[in-house]
Amino acid sequence: MSSSFISSSWFKIGLPIFFLTIVSFTMSGIIKATGANLGVAVNLPYVLFISAIAISHAFKQSRSAMIATAMLVAYYFIQARLQSPLTSGTTLLELSLLSFLLPVACLMIYVFSDSRVTSVSFAVYSGLIAMFVIWCYLILTHFYEGGFEDISDTFLFSVDQLSRLPFVLLMYQLALIGSTAMLVIHNNRNVDAIVYSSILMTSAAFTFFHVPYISSTLFSIGGIFLLFYIASSSYQLAFNDGLTGIPGRHALEMDLKQLSRRYSIAMLDIDHFKSFNDTYGHDTGDDVLKLVASRMTRVKGNAKVYRYGGEEFTVLYNRKYAKQTHEYLELLREDIANYEMKLRDTDNRPNDDKVGSKQRKGKKNKSDVVKVTISIGVADSTCAKKPVDVIKAADDALYKAKKKGRNRVEIAKPTH
Ligand code: GH3
Ligand code: MG
Ligand code: MG
Repeated sequence: MSSSFISSSWFKIGLPIFFLTIVSFTMSGIIKATGANLGVAVNLPYVLFISAIAISHAFKQSRSAMIATAMLVAYYFIQARLQSPLTSGTTLLELSLLSFLLPVACLMIYVFSDSRVTSVSFAVYSGLIAMFVIWCYLILTHFYEGGFEDISDTFLFSVDQLSRLPFVLLMYQLALIGSTAMLVIHNNRNVDAIVYSSILMTSAAFTFFHVPYISSTLFSIGGIFLLFYIASSSYQLAFNDGLTGIPGRHALEMDLKQLSRRYSIAMLDIDHFKSFNDTYGHDTGDDVLKLVASRMTRVKGNAKVYRYGGEEFTVLYNRKYAKQTHEYLELLREDIANYEMKLRDTDNRPNDDKVGSKQRKGKKNKSDVVKVTISIGVADSTCAKKPVDVIKAADDALYKAKKKGRNRVEIAKPTH
């Protein structure tokens, strides 16, 4: 399986659904296996969530730890309080509260940024979870005092063919699953995939709560997804370029080892970038690099994009000849040439270092709209045997593009 497929948004949406489908077909076997290994199966979610919190701490991914904490607390209450039939006492009300609040807790992580588990934000989040618990306690006390006599009939009515969970909550969960799936499609970030898969798994557990051992099964799968995305985020951190966020040179070198027989490599270089830096300052140059990189990730034709170094980028097309990529690269060149980049007002930024502030003096107005152009050289597997030599051929083609006046795409000639 190619790594681009695994990192695609459709994979992130489809994988949890695929797991749910497998669970639905094998549930009778899962019930038997869980019954035979009750101690392990019921405690597995705790082990997974605690591991997720520990690993998140090491990799400074406190948002994943936040979701793990919320799921851990929810699972604890399921085990401690929700093991009696849904028709008895406040079980249904408690399940309803949990299925309402857990997605809220999952979505709350968007308010925070990632850091260590020992950070203030993690403490604030834990405080909010504690407040949820206290709030539920107060609601249940109110219920015992006869505060919600009609609640089961008015708010908590359910359509038993679908689920014992109140209908209104089923709709609520569906809306949240749909919205978080849209976020995955739109942003394709791991954090969105974590929120989506956690809400999907736990909502499915609440929906089919009457099925034996469903919560330990689906919370365990939720925990495995969390661990998978924590590992995947750490991998991205190691292989992505710090400034632009796209894969860096190291990632390119790894991918060059997994090419098919037919492939193309394009080398891109921003035109006159040195004088751009001289005119607008190095910080503004950095901003432009980020904007160009984000524009490049939209390149068509199923390509992978890397920052090669400095103001140079690489586009890799597996299973395509250079001729086939020409049209896509032309579109990219045009797109960047026409892209009006609005610069941030750097005068309001803190002067973090003396060199930086010196560089900024006397530069052009930072509310300016600027444009840059790029030159591209592309070569394919017919130009050389080894990928490093194909890169060299692409570099030569890039040099030609520069010589011919820049802002153009040049294709290297095949040699065999
Ligand atoms: P050409 O059209 O021939 O490519 O001209 P150029 O000025 O872009 O080429 P040259 O290789 O001489 O200069 C590249 C410049 O890119 C030099 C450096 O100031 C700038 N640069 C490289 N890396 C970075 C970076 O990370 N941030 C910023 N702001 N500038 C960078
Ligand atoms: Mg250069
Ligand atoms: Mg350049």
